[in-house]
Amino acid sequence: MNTCPRGPRFRLCAFRSKLTRVASKWALPVLLCALLNASAIPASGAPPVNRYDQVMHLVRALSGSPRVRLLPFGKSFTQGYCVPAMLITDFSAKSENKIRILVCAGQHGNEFDAVRSILSLSCNLASGTQPDLLKKCEFVVVPMVNPTGVGAHTRLSADNIDLNRNWRNPFSPEALHVSALINTWRPHLLIDAHEQDKPSYLEVPYCLSTNQQTAMNKLAQGISAKNRLPIARSGSNKSLFHSNYAFLGYGAYLIEIDKNLGYKTKYKLYTGVILGMAKALSNNTISRSTLSPSSNNFSISAVAPYLKPLTVRKITVVASLFNTGLLLVFSYILCVWLLKPTFREQKTQWSRMFMRCEVDQSIPANRLAMRHTPIPITSRSWVKRQLRSRYAAPKPEDKKPEPKPIESTLTFIKPKYPKTGSERASSSQTLTTQPSLTHN
Ligand SMILES: [Zn+2]
Repeated sequence: MNTCPRGPRFRLCAFRSKLTRVASKWALPVLLCALLNASAIPASGAPPVNRYDQVMHLVRALSGSPRVRLLPFGKSFTQGYCVPAMLITDFSAKSENKIRILVCAGQHGNEFDAVRSILSLSCNLASGTQPDLLKKCEFVVVPMVNPTGVGAHTRLSADNIDLNRNWRNPFSPEALHVSALINTWRPHLLIDAHEQDKPSYLEVPYCLSTNQQTAMNKLAQGISAKNRLPIARSGSNKSLFHSNYAFLGYGAYLIEIDKNLGYKTKYKLYTGVILGMAKALSNNTISRSTLSPSSNNFSISAVAPYLKPLTVRKITVVASLFNTGLLLVFSYILCVWLLKPTFREQKTQWSRMFMRCEVDQSIPANRLAMRHTPIPITSRSWVKRQLRSRYAAPKPEDKKPEPKPIESTLTFIKPKYPKTGSERASSSQTLTTQPSLTHN
């Protein structure tokens, strides 16, 4: 049996000190590393409770589809909530001749089934249930025009504005954002989804042009018959979304669905109207330029950045594992690097205390302390030392005898011209002495 000669108490102390050392060296960096990674990983699992968060969660999930791209989001004035917008289409098909449809919902925050239905329709389109339709159509979807109202379950926004009375001269940031989208995309068709306590209907607004009015009525009649949805005529209240844009020359409609119906029936009605109108326009049963004369001003260069083909990154399981591993390693290195200086400093202090004491036993304690305080070598002190060593007066015993000056045997005389005969002779004499150096 292997027993320690120093006894169990010593072994326990040794074990404890070793444990402390290991803990200080490894446990802290590992803990910090785990914390860093935990903060990097997004929280998942439980679905969001707030309706606004639910919508944003779904929009984020939808953006992963190859048929969906997010458009610039708007922002509410008071709480900085997002007004999400997305483009759903088949991006491989040419965009020039596509029908542009803008669908919006949630202008009134307490009509959440309309928001849900539009989001469900977006999910269906994004998952590829209508591949032929997406080759011919571009859907610009704004599922939640009033995010603060949706978050608080109120009709009005947080700024106390009824957004569907704010379109003639829009001033709320939500309405301004949607109108900017309409000015960019110039849609052929605008559909606004609502709910109410009265029976459902499809509302056709008043238009300036007779041809446009005829086209709008014709399209509405076809859809109404198919979905058993009555048609209603609206007045010329231009503060309403659909009335304002019909007046401005767009094919705009309002769907009002009875609140008391079940969600499935509501979804069926919303989807029936939107997809029915899109199919009618894509089959050219209705002339799109007659229905929406303002859409002729569309310029494809304005939306070109959103239609560019994307390079899809395929992240495999191995790659994601590799990334996680890299993240772990880097965060560990960072932690060690952050903690290292303290360890090193401690080590040097201790080594100074003990190692120097062993070597310099004769030096008293106060001198030792002085010696351990680092003396900064400045450039000034270095210069002083250099000057002192160079110009210090030599000691008398070190004085060396001065070396004798070497007598020069050569005299160089600059010749003057013209020379006289005697001068030429003297210069030749001096020159004759020169070879004594070279030939010794
Ligand atoms: Zn409404």
